[in-house]
Amino acid sequence: MICPLCSEVVEDITHLLLLCPVIVPLWQRLCRWWGVCWIAPGCMVDWFVQ
Ligand SMILES: [Zn+2]
Repeated sequence: MICPLCSEVVEDITHLLLLCPVIVPLWQRLCRWWGVCWIAPGCMVDWFVQ
């Protein structure tokens, strides 16, 4: 099933939560709001998988 947000790639949970180009700017804004630095999605995925 294609991602409903960006319609570019096959959706999976990692894409939807972390990698979707529609979602990433929202995370960046949230992180700035929380006063933390945005972590590269790859690092987040590693952290998620562990
Ligand atoms: Zn997407």
